[in-house]
Amino acid sequence: MRVLKFGGTSLADAGRIAGVAALVSEAAARERAVVVVSALAGVTDALVEAADAAADGEPCAARVDALERRHLRCLDALATGGRDGGARATIRARVAELHHLLGAAAARRRCAARDRDSVLAAGERLSVVLVALALRAAGVEAEAVDATELVRTDSRFGEARVDAAATEALIRRRLGAAGDRPVPVVTGFVGADAAGRTTTLGRGGSDYSASLVGAALGASVVEIWTDVNGVLSGPPLLLPGARTVPELSYEEAAELAFFGAKVLHRETMRPLAALGIPIAVPNTIAAGGAATRISRAPAIPAPGPAAVTAVEKVELLTAEPGGDRRAGSHGVHHELASAGIEPLASARASADATVSAAVHADCSGRAVATLRRGWAVATRGGLSLVAVVGHGLGRGPALAGSALTALAAERVPLVAAWAGSSPHSFAALVERRDLPAALAALHGRLVARTGAEAR
Ligand code: ADP
Ligand code: ASP
Ligand code: MG
Repeated sequence: MRVLKFGGTSLADAGRIAGVAALVSEAAARERAVVVVSALAGVTDALVEAADAAADGEPCAARVDALERRHLRCLDALATGGRDGGARATIRARVAELHHLLGAAAARRRCAARDRDSVLAAGERLSVVLVALALRAAGVEAEAVDATELVRTDSRFGEARVDAAATEALIRRRLGAAGDRPVPVVTGFVGADAAGRTTTLGRGGSDYSASLVGAALGASVVEIWTDVNGVLSGPPLLLPGARTVPELSYEEAAELAFFGAKVLHRETMRPLAALGIPIAVPNTIAAGGAATRISRAPAIPAPGPAAVTAVEKVELLTAEPGGDRRAGSHGVHHELASAGIEPLASARASADATVSAAVHADCSGRAVATLRRGWAVATRGGLSLVAVVGHGLGRGPALAGSALTALAAERVPLVAAWAGSSPHSFAALVERRDLPAALAALHGRLVARTGAEAR
C-alpha cells in the first residue's frame, strides 16, 4: 500500500492535475494507493490574504469569485464528456461557505482563529474535488475524503497538534479495509478537534497528513511529490549549487525541515520513523529522475554533512530578568511556549541570567510582548539562521570546527552559534545580507567536499 502526496506546486493547473492523475493511475494499477493533496498552487496564500483583508473589514467577494473561476476553469478542462459527477455542485457549495465565512468576518472586522482555519481549509476541500475528478477521467474510481474524518487534533487553530492514537484509529476505520474500493483523495493540512471543528496543521502541513495516513495504514512508502528533484543539499533559491541528496536519515530530514527546508513539514518524519516506513521525495515534473529516500540511518553513517539549510528572517531576542534573578532560561522557554512560540535556538552562557533566543521574525513581536512581563528584552533583527546537517555529526568536534573555519575563510561575520546541542547539526546566525555567502561557504567547503553525491 502506497501513499502519494501532491503539493500545490504539482497542482498548478488542469494540465498538471491530469499529470498527477496519470501518476496515481499507474501506482494504483500495481497496489492500493491513497492520495493526499494540498490546495492548488498559491491558493492557501490567497486565502490567508483574504482572511486578513476580511479582518480589516474588506468584503472579499471578488477574491472568492476569482478562486471559484480558477477551480471551475480546471473542472471544465478535466470533466470528460461534460460529466463531472457532482464536482461543480461541490465546488459551488464550498465557495458559498467561503463567501459566508469571509462576509461574516468582514462585518465583524475580525476573523477568529477557528474561522480562519475553516477559510484556509477551503483550499484543500476544493482541490480534492478536482483531483478525484481527474482520476475518474483517467479511468480510476476515486472519492474525495475530508480529513476532518481522519485527523483528530487539539484546538490550537492554525498549528493544531495531532492526537496520534485517535487519528490512527480513525484512519484505520475509514480507509483501512483493503479491496477495490475507490482510491481515496484526502485533504491534506486539515484536521478536526474533539468538538468536530476544523483545524489546520500549520503551513506545509499536507506532508504531515500523508505521513499520518501512511503510518496508520502501514504503507510500504510515503511519497511526497513536489516541484524539485527531492531534498536538495541547500535551499535552491539561495544556493545555485544545491543538488539532490539521494539518502537521508529521518533525523537529518527532520533537522532540515526544522531549520527552514520548506520541502517537508517538520512533523512529517515523526509518525514514520518509529515504524521504519521510508519516505520518497520525487519530482512530479521529472518522475523517474533524481529523488531522495528518507529512512533509518545506515549502521555506518555517511562521512560528511548531507546539506545546509536556512531560515531567512530571524530575530535574536536577549532577555535580562527583572527583579527575580532565578527567572533563567526555563522561565523564558516557559513563557514563550505558553504563547505558542518555539525558539529555533537559545542559550544562557554567562554568569548573569541573560538568555538569548533566536526566533522566526514573524513571531518576534509576540515573543517580546510576552517576555516584557518579567524581563528587559532587546531584539536584533535583520538576521538569518544557517545550519549544517549531518547524521550524528553535531556532537563531535569536527563539524563546528570546520563550519567556523569555512565561515571565517569567506569572511562571513558570525552573530551567534550553537554547537553540541543537537546530535545532527551545527547552527549559526549571520546578518541577512551575508546569508548567500554563508550558505555557499558551508556548502562548498563542507557538503561538496565530503561528497553528498556519494551518499
Ligand atoms: P509543495 O507544493 O510540493 O508542498 P513546497 O513549496 O512546500 O512544495 O516545497 C518545495 C520547495 O521547497 C521547493 O520548490 C524549494 O524552493 C523549497 N526548498 C527549500 N529548501 C529545500 C531543500 N533543501 N530541498 C528542496 N527544496 C527546498
Ligand atoms: N496548502 C497548505 C499550505 O500552503 C498546506 C500544504 O501546502 O502542505 O500551507
Ligand atoms: Mg509543501
